[in-house]
Amino acid sequence: MSATNNQVYDVAIIGGGAAGLSAALILARARRGVVVIDGGEPRNAPASAAHGLLGQEGVNPLVLLETGRNEAVSYGARIVQANVQHASGSADNGFAAALDDGSTIHADQVLIATGVQDELPAIPGLAERWGRDVVHCPYCHGWEIRDQRIGLLATGPMSAMQALLFHQWTDRMTFFPNGLDFPTEQLEKVRALGITVAPGTASGIEVVDDRLTAALMEDGSRVELDALAVPAKTHARLDGLEGLGLDVATNAMGVAVIADAAGHTSVPGVWAAGNVVNPAMQVSESASNGARVAMTINTEMVFARADRAVADDRARVGV
Ligand SMILES: Cc1cc2nc3c(=O)[nH]c(=O)nc-3n(C[C@H](O)[C@H](O)[C@H](O)COP(=O)(O)OP(=O)(O)OC[C@H]3O[C@@H](n4cnc5c(N)ncnc54)[C@H](O)[C@@H]3O)c2cc1C
Repeated sequence: MSATNNQVYDVAIIGGGAAGLSAALILARARRGVVVIDGGEPRNAPASAAHGLLGQEGVNPLVLLETGRNEAVSYGARIVQANVQHASGSADNGFAAALDDGSTIHADQVLIATGVQDELPAIPGLAERWGRDVVHCPYCHGWEIRDQRIGLLATGPMSAMQALLFHQWTDRMTFFPNGLDFPTEQLEKVRALGITVAPGTASGIEVVDDRLTAALMEDGSRVELDALAVPAKTHARLDGLEGLGLDVATNAMGVAVIADAAGHTSVPGVWAAGNVVNPAMQVSESASNGARVAMTINTEMVFARADRAVADDRARVGV
């Protein structure tokens, strides 16, 4: 089966990051008509390198995805650079995705792999440094900022535990509760590891020569830093997909699509993979999850086809 502009695709994948492209590769190699619709803004685009990725350690995130697109296309997948503005439909009648380039894509199944939006605290300057010296993930950035003066700006109830984690990469660690209360036993662990607890509220950051140099506090004081960890809240990217009616869950990290381990969402025929389901997934995990969900999609389509063939046979012979 080849993919053409007018066809009803077996699967439309919305989102062409690690999860979506990995799914596309599996589905194209399974001889499915597959299209990837991608807005081209992967979550880690602000970072110059993706770390912790076996065989591709330190690769530029955009180069990785370019390679992935080429691999999927080489097996017949189609890539459309656009955003879905309105998706609707059902497993019985098929799905339609209206794109911001004016075209519409039709498919029997839809895989949502749109990732998340990171929501930073409203502190001036954080967004500009995001993915550089304002970071969220020790496994992504910890090695690069090892032994430096790292601060952790609390954003929620897990933040004290995240300060303990970042301490694995440096002895020069400052925890900013930033007005939030933490259980005494958590702060006891923080202090026992030698992490400085900075009272007060952060109001800004200081940047000199394109490098973070300090956190600025509301009382006018400054705490010298080389990097600031900010556990951002995450919000599943579902703009334009509201019409599908997916169930979502709100947890300590933010909002995520509810899906089981095989990628089934609350809506038959609509699947989900990658950060949109679990924002803690790294690139390798997102790719792996996309591949696993793609295999399940293909398998269920094979079984459904066999069921239809049996029903047709029985109808023909009148049983
Ligand atoms: C700053 C930063 C650095 C990171 N560094 C690392 C690292 O070093 N190593 C690591 O393993 N992980 C890292 N991560 C995590 C990594 O970004 C995620 O694991 C990965 O991006 C998840 O892949 P995904 O396919 O689920 O989503 P994404 O990569 O975010 O891809 C989603 C895609 O869907 C598209 N999209 C969204 N909505 C629509 C729509 N309506 N229509 C069409 N397209 C749409 C987006 O434009 C995007 O291209 C980092 C994250 C951040 C924030």
